[in-house]
Amino acid sequence: LLVARNVRKRYGSVEVLKGISLTVNPGEVMCLLGPSGSGKSTFLRCINHLERIDGGRISVGGDLIGYTQRQDRIFEMNPRQVARQRRGIGMVFQRFNLFPHMTALENISVAPVGVKKVPKQQASKRGMDLLERVGLAHLAKAYPAQLSGGQQQRVAIARALAMDPQLLLFDEPTSALDPELVGDVLDVMRTLASDGMTMIVVTHEIGFARSAADNVVFMDGGVVVESGAPASVLDNPQNPRTIAFLNSVM
Ligand code: ATP
Ligand code: MG
Repeated sequence: LLVARNVRKRYGSVEVLKGISLTVNPGEVMCLLGPSGSGKSTFLRCINHLERIDGGRISVGGDLIGYTQRQDRIFEMNPRQVARQRRGIGMVFQRFNLFPHMTALENISVAPVGVKKVPKQQASKRGMDLLERVGLAHLAKAYPAQLSGGQQQRVAIARALAMDPQLLLFDEPTSALDPELVGDVLDVMRTLASDGMTMIVVTHEIGFARSAADNVVFMDGGVVVESGAPASVLDNPQNPRTIAFLNSVM
């Protein structure tokens, strides 16, 4: 579903991504690990059009990110095409970024109504189903300030799902949460994974990576250092940098 080939990204003279190549098949979960500054967030931002890449290519569902192809020629997308492509890619950040003046349910249905022109009643009904799915149907009318961080993050996940993304990106979704709230969010993510959602998850939660990931990728210094099944990368790492990192987080 996602294919990245030799992706490069530079900020000024600093190359932050030095040729990232990886593949995520439909229904697979990839966990992306690596030390601070290794380029994990930058890579997710490149997938979701928040950054432009300087080299290589990324495609999602067979479509090049940021470019369209007509006959044999490749054109940069216009903003409308970018917006349409972004809708197919959900993103959940470390901070929940809910709209503070809207209830949980309104947060979830606002984009389907405003962007996809789904009738309001239908969007609300779907929103309730999604709240149910993340275990928060009883809090549909609550405002973000009335919710715990973990509940807010589960609303943020439901909000991303409301756009029916073909790919869901998570950037350290639990690292801003109090420890006792992490489990509920990871449980929701595990359920999504077992329901067949295609996901890329940047996380330091090794237990989650071990139990939910089909593939684990370890990045350092803007390159993929090691990748493979969780059992090989996490339990039998070969690269000294992977070994040092795992020792530091476990
Ligand atoms: P962390 O685990 O701390 O979130 P990360 O692996 O997500 O780290 P990135 O946020 O992708 O790392 O950053 C990679 C490098 O790019 C860092 O050296 C960072 O300082 C640099 N960087 C990120 N964003 C920008 C920017 N907008 N302008 C300049 N440099 C940036
Ligand atoms: Mg980051």
